Amino acid sequence: MSGASARVVGLEGPHVDLHAHSTASDGSRSPTAVVAAAKAAGLSAIAITDHDTMDGVAEAVAAADKFGIRVVPGVELSATDGQREVHLLGLHIQRASAIEDSLRTFRERRHERAIQIVAKLNELGVPVSFDDVLARAGDAAIGRPHIARVLIEGAWARDSRDAFDRYLGSGRPAYVPKHRLSVADAIALVHAGGGLAILAHPGAEGRRETIERFAAHGLDGVEVRHPGHTTEDTNRLAALTEFFGLVPSGGSDWHGAGEGPRVLGVMRVPLSWLEQQDARVEARRSAGTVA
Ligand code: AMP
Ligand code: ZN
Ligand code: FE
Ligand code: FE
Repeated sequence: MSGASARVVGLEGPHVDLHAHSTASDGSRSPTAVVAAAKAAGLSAIAITDHDTMDGVAEAVAAADKFGIRVVPGVELSATDGQREVHLLGLHIQRASAIEDSLRTFRERRHERAIQIVAKLNELGVPVSFDDVLARAGDAAIGRPHIARVLIEGAWARDSRDAFDRYLGSGRPAYVPKHRLSVADAIALVHAGGGLAILAHPGAEGRRETIERFAAHGLDGVEVRHPGHTTEDTNRLAALTEFFGLVPSGGSDWHGAGEGPRVLGVMRVPLSWLEQQDARVEARRSAGTVA
């Protein structure tokens, strides 16, 4: 590393990755394997943020003890803002039991949605069955990536990108939108679990008006660093996060090896960002407020 690049913020010192998926949702690695990969990447902490489930967290925490790194308990929620789908990370969830009923409902809706997607595929002449999808997903929160894997195995798509471009992506012929949960309700749910609500990978949509509006609903932070962000996105989001008194977050959105160019730890998120989050959790706890 050259002297010049070493001066770029975040390239020195310990790093963390605050966005990763396991087999509890649509990741391809078990929670233990995700923690092992985080250790191998030299990270000091990893957040497990599966879609609509915290079922992978207990196993990850047990593995974290063994590997000597920290696991941040998290979840990724899908919400709707107007016509747009928005993702929120709930990080530092202290009381998973307080949100489990809601998460179970979201998973049941995922199950129903997958049945509808399979029906659309069948209408398009693609003879995949819901049993194939269930066999792929096991006990996981079902997502489109599970269906994509079935399409790839049946040679109906070359790879995941092709499966989304041809069938599963927004506006494509087998697309079925997700349930409508408002951003305000998603933030309130994260707060009910004692966690911080972080706007996930807002990209180009993360502009002042949106962040200000979500902050008014109690948003705690913004995922500033994400593989989908341009440098311009990252700079704008860092500035807006600071301006509105929110905490920064970042992560690779890792789904396991073989799922594209996203590499665990690649976003070089400094430990100090996690410490800012800890301080916000502590401030809220000592203020005795839940929301
Ligand atoms: P779902 O939760 O069922 O809506 O599926 C969303 C997940 O699908 C995301 O978290 C990604 O892992 C994956 N995904 C979304 N869009 C694409 C795409 N264009 N190509 C490959 N994977 C995608
Ligand atoms: Zn995913
Ligand atoms: Fe997401
Ligand atoms: Fe994600």
